[in-house]
Amino acid sequence: MIPTLLSMKMHATFDSIQSSQNLSELCMKLLSEQKKTWPDLEQGYETLNNVKAREILCSGFSVRVQHNPGRVRSTLADVGEKSVKERPCFLCLNNLPENQKGVLYQKEYLILCNPMPVFSGHFTIASLVHQPQAIAEHIDAFLQLMGDFGSHWSILYNGPKCGASAPDHLHFQAIPSGKMPIEQEITGEKKLVRMKQIDSVWVSRAKGLGREIIVLEADEPIDMAGAFKSIVAELKKALNGDDEPMLSVAGFHNGNKWRLMVFPRAKHRPDAFFRQGADRVAVSPAVIEMGGILVTPMEKDFECLDISVVEGIFKEVSLFLPW
Ligand SMILES: [Zn+2]
Repeated sequence: MIPTLLSMKMHATFDSIQSSQNLSELCMKLLSEQKKTWPDLEQGYETLNNVKAREILCSGFSVRVQHNPGRVRSTLADVGEKSVKERPCFLCLNNLPENQKGVLYQKEYLILCNPMPVFSGHFTIASLVHQPQAIAEHIDAFLQLMGDFGSHWSILYNGPKCGASAPDHLHFQAIPSGKMPIEQEITGEKKLVRMKQIDSVWVSRAKGLGREIIVLEADEPIDMAGAFKSIVAELKKALNGDDEPMLSVAGFHNGNKWRLMVFPRAKHRPDAFFRQGADRVAVSPAVIEMGGILVTPMEKDFECLDISVVEGIFKEVSLFLPW
């Protein structure tokens, strides 16, 4: 039998109902295997081992700035419609690097190691089909991933116009949970103001964290998808648009409480990103940044970022709701 492209790219398979194996263990096995067989990945993790990081304490929240030169392509990427159309899609099976393999998930996604990692485990979950990034239609897969990866992992989504590196190819990310400062901050005392309940899901707004965050919380994931869709629909109506409202999403659970954080966005990149020369700030806020990890590939920015610049960036890229 001639091996298909997919079978050649598969390291393992996972099916929520049939698999007895643990998905996160399977992915960590993939990672250790890929570090041996894919030099670019090994290099990416080597770079991560040497990154510098520091905390900035803003008013009411903190961020961790990571100087990660390995992320330069991703931070500065041109994600404009024209450039995206003209480049070969790097998440399509036939364009994956020769040595890259993945875990086939639910026969619909391939879980891949991110060769430019921000964390010690950083996966991209790419649809097998080349289709646009869209969250409401695929929130069930997102929630299923949260369940299957388990409580030690967070699942992330970037909207097509606010941080997705491949706006034209549906994908999510998985990172170890607890790494983004916001995960602890929203569970802190009096950080959430409850707005309403949709079935079993509480919808709250975070306050005093420097950016807009809508938080959905429930003891079970069962009503989460419906509640999430209704929040996205409300945002869409408020913005009078047909497209998906600009948003970034992070989801995690501890076994007892399921949480989705929705960051409504006004902009992808702050104006300072587009300045020339020394005035440029190479920070490109995607969901990881909204979670409080500011990745910058430039040493200058790593040194210069301070409380007022960080607070200004969050304010500029967030969409504050009139609700
Ligand atoms: Zn593609």
